[in-house]
Amino acid sequence: MAFERLHRFAGRLVMVGFGSIGQGVLPLLLRHIEIAPAQITIVTPGDDGHEIAREYGVAMVDAALTPANYDAVLSPLLGAGDFLLNLSVDVSSAALIAWCQPRGVLYLDTVSEPWAGTYDGGDLPAEQRTNYAMREESLALRRAGAPTAVITHGANPGLVSHFVKQALLDIARDTGIHAPTPRSREGWARLAQQLGVRVIHIAERDTHVGTRPKAVGEFVNTWSVDGFVGEGLQPAELGWGTHERHFPSDGERHASGSQAAIYLKRPGASTRVRSWTPAAGPQHAFLITHAEAISIADYLTLGDAARPQYRPTVHYAYHPCDDAVLSVHELAGRNWRVQPRKRILKDDIAAGADVLGVLLMGHARGAYWYGSRLSIEQARAACPHNSATSLQVTVAVLAGVVWAMQHPDRGVVEPDELPHDEILAWCRPYLGEVFGVYTDWTPLTDRGWLFDEDVDRDDPWQFKNFRVA
Ligand code: NAD
Repeated sequence: MAFERLHRFAGRLVMVGFGSIGQGVLPLLLRHIEIAPAQITIVTPGDDGHEIAREYGVAMVDAALTPANYDAVLSPLLGAGDFLLNLSVDVSSAALIAWCQPRGVLYLDTVSEPWAGTYDGGDLPAEQRTNYAMREESLALRRAGAPTAVITHGANPGLVSHFVKQALLDIARDTGIHAPTPRSREGWARLAQQLGVRVIHIAERDTHVGTRPKAVGEFVNTWSVDGFVGEGLQPAELGWGTHERHFPSDGERHASGSQAAIYLKRPGASTRVRSWTPAAGPQHAFLITHAEAISIADYLTLGDAARPQYRPTVHYAYHPCDDAVLSVHELAGRNWRVQPRKRILKDDIAAGADVLGVLLMGHARGAYWYGSRLSIEQARAACPHNSATSLQVTVAVLAGVVWAMQHPDRGVVEPDELPHDEILAWCRPYLGEVFGVYTDWTPLTDRGWLFDEDVDRDDPWQFKNFRVA
């Protein structure tokens, strides 16, 4: 089968990390970019994915990057016009971006990570363990004309920023607002305000099940266990909307920066919210901190940062696969000391799908979910070495890499700044069913029949109503 070539790349590409995402990205890069396997090098410790690298004829360097060695490891491998694709855990995103800039090296990652051990010991104040702080660090590296560094461009963060824009256009169409497609950040924010969007959830339900159940003392997930546990133990974070009138008792604002988000003084893995997806209707989900909660809220802010006229509340509402829910429950019982064994489901997935989208609420039609429903069968047929969960990420990585190669001098950019229609067009063939659906669900639906609850009945879209007490 001939695959569409999106770009011809003459430079070298180094992929740091070759876990569930790296292994799924490699076949997509070789399919859709004109690049020879000899131009690619994988840098990762241990023997992760050796057989897959061999299958595609790609060289591997066995190294774990650290603050002490990353310059020495990367210098012989990368120079002006080359590409550093960071798909690792435990490697500082900001350090790699700062390293790439003076050398003219292009860059993309799917998440902002600190160096290994940064959060260990629990000594660092909660504020410094937030994605807000890491985002400010990356954005401080913005320089006009610098080599392009696309930050946080996987599925979420990443693809979901493009879903939000498509969802806004769909709601405008369906509510009779004939607005032209916005051409600026402010234009998108005005459209969201005009539609009356108050809350945006990144609403995901992963229904993958493995061929054998989770065992006691084992953390099971469909993507990085280290990545999920890491972000789950960070404070919960959410973009804080201008319609909110009950500030959480455990909430904190930031002293500096965009002011688009707040954090809660508790781990996201212990913070649950009510949400909705077309996979299973209403659900309790984890409010895990994610870059998109901050970047989308910031992108859609109108007015002064400190006293905005408009901003929606934005956060992740994640129902991972059932074995991962059990794993989080066990992890909490262990006072957040991670289980001795970790397992990422991929080839041993028996059934299921990933239903990942954005749920825009508070407008004239109530709530609108827009996103991708991708089954394990569809994912396996579309691309080797992927599950549905990984493919939604890896195709967005491919699209971000292609965009960066085509626009090599844009400096540090977030997903919200990329053209949503072009990125979605490139990703769509790998996303299964991409669709939107309205629902009359609100966080107050079916509430209060069992016990009296402290809710705000005047405005269903208050964060207080979403939060599971
Ligand atoms: P994984 O745990 O399966 O693999 C991580 C890889 O990083 C492994 O190959 C590991 O050996 C390597 N690694 C660890 N320490 C390293 C070091 N010091 N130097 C170099 N390599 C190192 O993780 P994954 O599921 O492939 O996820 C990779 C990254 O992508 C994670 O940071 C994760 O949070 C992120 N991610 C983002 C999204 C998204 O949608 N934005 C989705 C899934 C994963």
